[in-house]
Amino acid sequence: MTIDLSGRRALVTGAGKGIGRTIASLLSSCGAEVVALSRTGEDLHSLAEEISCETLVVDLENPVAAAQATREAGDIDLLINNAGISIPQSFLGTTIDAFDRTMSVNLRSVLIVSQIVAKGMVERGAGGSIVNVSSQASLVAIADHAAYCASKGALDQLTRVMALELGPHRIRVNAVNPTVTLTPMGEEAWKDPAKRDGMLAKIPLGRFAKPNEIAQAVAFLLSNQSEMINGVTLPIDGGYLIA
Ligand code: NDP
Repeated sequence: MTIDLSGRRALVTGAGKGIGRTIASLLSSCGAEVVALSRTGEDLHSLAEEISCETLVVDLENPVAAAQATREAGDIDLLINNAGISIPQSFLGTTIDAFDRTMSVNLRSVLIVSQIVAKGMVERGAGGSIVNVSSQASLVAIADHAAYCASKGALDQLTRVMALELGPHRIRVNAVNPTVTLTPMGEEAWKDPAKRDGMLAKIPLGRFAKPNEIAQAVAFLLSNQSEMINGVTLPIDGGYLIA
């Protein structure tokens, strides 16, 4: 099966590093016109040397700047809400600042960006596809991830309501829910061998995910090959969630 996204314009948030960068590269290789959005300019400059893409440097924590950047992205057919942060803290130790920052990037920015993109899709009447990068942490409790788990649980529900309301406009909305993935965020969050080995032991396939394994599922959900799939939250977890 070949995924052909030629003629489609794709906005990828958090495209500077990790999963988002890999998604941007894969979508470009599938023929999409990529708009790469992220916080650190150098990451986007180096990405633009590797693939053909437009770049937008913005901090999605700022709602006004997030909206403005999304409008600058122009008419979007495919949206990947990937930008996310994790600030590991116990439940009792979770600070208001960390909670608000996590919610503003992982959840509120998805609302802001998606509303603008989806309004354009509805006005143009051409349909579209949106994929939200959630996490296995939306479905199970993970110690020291209170704000993160809450943000991803809410993101799954936002995905379902978006799918319900946008479906009649031929806009599909789905989420992917990866296990630990070997990116800068994944390496940092699971660097303690005791924690890492405990998580690994719960994954039947016995390993963490690679960014490309997430990107391939995202490309499928964006493509016409998944035309009847709407509102799913797809685990990419080596079986972690079945145990
Ligand atoms: P990384 O930290 O490796 O990369 C995240 C990217 O998002 C970076 O380019 C970062 O830019 C950007 N970003 C973060 N905050 C903002 C912001 N406020 N405004 C604009 N861009 C921002 O993360 P991953 O690739 O690991 O994670 C990507 C997504 O996958 C996240 O939503 C995460 O929750 C999810 N996920 C990750 C897993 C993992 O184990 N890695 C597992 C399950 C889900 P900068 O570096 O400049 O801050």
